[in-house]
Amino acid sequence: MHETNTSRVALVTGAANGIGRATALAFASSGYKVVLSDIDGQAGEATLALIEAAGGQAVFIRCDVSCDAEVRRLIEQSVATYGRLDCAFNNAGIEIEKCKLADGSEAVFDAIMGVNVKGVWLCMKYQIAQMLAQGGGSIVNTASVAGLIAAPKQGIYSASKHAVLGLSKTAAVEYARKNIRVNAVCPAVIDTDMYRRASADDPRHVAQVVAAHPIGRIGTAEEVAAAVLYLSGATAGFTTGIALPVDGGLTAQYDFQPLEK
Ligand code: NAD
Repeated sequence: MHETNTSRVALVTGAANGIGRATALAFASSGYKVVLSDIDGQAGEATLALIEAAGGQAVFIRCDVSCDAEVRRLIEQSVATYGRLDCAFNNAGIEIEKCKLADGSEAVFDAIMGVNVKGVWLCMKYQIAQMLAQGGGSIVNTASVAGLIAAPKQGIYSASKHAVLGLSKTAAVEYARKNIRVNAVCPAVIDTDMYRRASADDPRHVAQVVAAHPIGRIGTAEEVAAAVLYLSGATAGFTTGIALPVDGGLTAQYDFQPLEK
């Protein structure tokens, strides 16, 4: 018999903003108990308030995903709070100023890899241990279209998102017989603070970005959340090891020249 969502527990990292907040709200409105986590405590508490105002059940636990001890404590506290961990959405990520590959610095490389790659690995490490102990679970990691194809002037970020897919696919194969599914979402440009920070002072860039998406617009955090909820739930029971583009057709095209109207 399938458990109802009201007995299911989901953990979301990067839940203070953007895609993570939208997905936490979607889990909560689908009846999941939600563990919200982020390095930003103030905005994380704001997500918690939104869920509670909508009648959902959640708790906020602050955590820097790049720190082993903090991630271990996050999973321990999640299980201490709700007793189990059915779904995890490892979404916390950073993008640093754009530059060509040879102009990057060691500090930027280490920072991006520390959060986007080590953070996802550490989360999976402790989540999988819990899911093995309880007999199964489902993990979704946030990669990017930059994990599928080149991202000029975002080489280190692109490498980090390719690595997220390597971790996801490997875990999917290693734990498939243990009732643990692992998938990734690959969003194109989504209207969040991360995108707004990169585009705020350049209207020409905004027009180019929109034109790169065959569908004629950028995506919303809610559209990524819907994909995460699908991959996390029982209806995706035969789906593991995939990298699902949520990209308005961006990666389906041969080149990214804007189509003539
Ligand atoms: P965002 O900046 O709005 O949210 C990211 C969240 O991650 C923030 O709340 C931030 O505080 C948190 N975070 C950063 N470092 C952290 C750390 N060390 N530990 C814990 N939390 C940390 O960005 P977003 O657009 O919602 O991005 C979410 C994910 O989606 C990221 O992994 C990003 O790379 C990915 N992504 C975003 C886009 C886009 O266009 N917005 C496209 C593809 C992929």
